Amino acid sequence: MTRTIPTARGRFAPSPTGAIHLGNVWTALLAWLDARQRGAAFVLRMEDLDPDRSRPHYAAQLLHDLRWLGLDWDEGPEIGGPSAPYRQDERRGLYAEALATLKREGLVYACFCTRAEVRAAASAPHGIAQREQCVNRCWSLSQREQAERIAKRRRPCLRIRMPHTATSIHFDDLCRGPHSEQVSLAAGDFVLRRADGVHAYQLAVVVDDGLMGITHVVRGADLLDSTARQMWLHHVLGFRPPHFAHVPLLIDNVGQRLSKRHASLAVAALRAAGIGAPTIIGWLAHWAGLLSAPQAVRPTELVGLLDLERLPKHDIVIETQMLV
Ligand code: GLU
Repeated sequence: MTRTIPTARGRFAPSPTGAIHLGNVWTALLAWLDARQRGAAFVLRMEDLDPDRSRPHYAAQLLHDLRWLGLDWDEGPEIGGPSAPYRQDERRGLYAEALATLKREGLVYACFCTRAEVRAAASAPHGIAQREQCVNRCWSLSQREQAERIAKRRRPCLRIRMPHTATSIHFDDLCRGPHSEQVSLAAGDFVLRRADGVHAYQLAVVVDDGLMGITHVVRGADLLDSTARQMWLHHVLGFRPPHFAHVPLLIDNVGQRLSKRHASLAVAALRAAGIGAPTIIGWLAHWAGLLSAPQAVRPTELVGLLDLERLPKHDIVIETQMLV
């Protein structure tokens, strides 16, 4: 039996670390509209990789709130699909396999530097380009030196050993236009697995987007800095990198990115205050330039109106007092 899978595939990949707020819904709506306009399958992937920060009740609330807002998805937790499972917590074996592949290529080393050492180097005036990386040349430790450190109960994180050649990445961001980055300089030897054994976001997101066949990623501009290294990892692991669109962030009138701190802008809080889903979608559509004035609307009524290239290239200030 043959299954028809749409060739274009988009996704929304939230982390269930707090109540879902307007900033999350903004990204979700834009990713959803992009997928629906392309006739793409839309995947919901729960990025609950970090056991210290993820909570099942936030994940459940998130699915409920997105549905309440009128968004839907073709594959995801609860409904399944051809790329199941859709919760990162259940995909750890796949990340371990990818790590083993990178190890075989000689691209992984154990780093015993303490967090304090790494932080001090990154914040020093002429620090290593303000990025976190190994400061004690751990990649050159012998087997014996490694064993000595492990015997002293030092648990290493695992880092990529970024080759210093051929690491220039170019891509056309669907929202921001052409972008180039020298990965070795910008990303350095980034972490693949933390010292506590949890796989890093940078590894997991590439394995997931790669294995799930994601072709279009619409996400916040705060992740633009991660894109070149992710594309590089896609190539090394044998995946075709998706197209990326980094959409502007919503910020409040003192310049803070909308986050869990803005408790009154959580979807649940807005609902409790009597604000309906179409009103919320209308605000978001207005900020995206899809409606000349906010008006109650359902997501399906906006399909066809999104033009990623015409979204603002800068953060969007919203008057948070005006809303509630
Ligand atoms: N899980 C990430 C977040 O919630 C998004 C990762 C991505 O879109 O690549 O910020």
